[in-house]
Amino acid sequence: MHYIELLERALSGEHLSQEEGIELFHHAPTAELAATADAMRRQRKPDGKVTWIIDRNVNTTNVCVANCKFCNFYRIPGHAEAYINTVESLRPKVIETFRYGGEQLLLQGGHHPELGLEYYTRLFRGLKAEFPQLKLHALGPPEIAHIAKLEGMSHRQVLETLAEAGLDSLPGAGAEILNDRVRRLISKGKCGGEEWLEVMRTAHQLNITTSATMMFGHIETIEERFEHLVRIRAVQSQKPESAKGFLAFIPWPFQDDGTLLRRHKGIRNTVTGDDYIRMIALSRIMLPNIINIQASWLTVGKAVAQICLHSGANDFGSIMIEENVVSAAGAPHRFTADGIQAAIREAGFEPQLRNQQYEYRALPAQMEQQVINY
Ligand code: SF4
Repeated sequence: MHYIELLERALSGEHLSQEEGIELFHHAPTAELAATADAMRRQRKPDGKVTWIIDRNVNTTNVCVANCKFCNFYRIPGHAEAYINTVESLRPKVIETFRYGGEQLLLQGGHHPELGLEYYTRLFRGLKAEFPQLKLHALGPPEIAHIAKLEGMSHRQVLETLAEAGLDSLPGAGAEILNDRVRRLISKGKCGGEEWLEVMRTAHQLNITTSATMMFGHIETIEERFEHLVRIRAVQSQKPESAKGFLAFIPWPFQDDGTLLRRHKGIRNTVTGDDYIRMIALSRIMLPNIINIQASWLTVGKAVAQICLHSGANDFGSIMIEENVVSAAGAPHRFTADGIQAAIREAGFEPQLRNQQYEYRALPAQMEQQVINY
């Protein structure tokens, strides 16, 4: 089928198949993909606002036994630089986050071989007791799967227990590419693709909101990339009517700096600005049932991310008061609260602060600009 026909079907709300997505990937010009994705963005977000959030990415522990080949963040158990955070060690960071106008921690970490449910529930309860207004966007599906295995519990039991202790929403971390050939090669110690999706399905049944991600541009084939999109869309279609499910989809290119994948296998990030813009547009086109598509300025920089706002994206993500994982593999870009809003305006949109539920929030009357020093 000609690509124009496929784009028209996407615009009318149809779910294109994996093969049809691949057809667009290979044959549709960037301008056509961007125009269709932009029209689909306007159908879903007609107010011309581009959302952003102030939050802080902090880590529970850097101890991990998963050995992902793209990760420079983790330390093996017993390493001199290994740490486990507690309410006490996180307290100053939370206080600083509020000073900068944030109200949320994106809290995730490694697969520690000994930290079970008790550590996480104690941490969440302790943080919520001290900071009741704090939101916890915490633990990706691989961590939920890891805790479930350690405890001999089901995903549902772990999620229910964590939600009861203060978990507000689940980030889409650790998806990489949801195909087990790829996962065996780059993140063998993490849960498989189907288990990742199953954790999200369960979260949606429990009315826990989530997001989905894709780290692409490493060893995956184009077929595997589109399989990833179609599987995520299928899980979103299965969510209970009353649940919001995946609130956003966030694709970003593999950051290669110093990673084992680059050092041992010579795999480099070859995703160009045009490749990324096309992937953003194709994400909007392939995922009509996910309202928000986020451009990852952290990995592709301001200029490319701004073009993405005209190619299907409607969200600029977080100013990331602190970020330790993607930055450790070379993502060099930084924004302050003023800087992110100026970049959105410069691209022709109205910046709108949001919370994790993608609800609009007013800018706090008092907020300091963070000093970027990481
Ligand atoms: S990406 Fe996460 S799971 Fe993989 S090695 Fe790093 S910390 Fe561990």
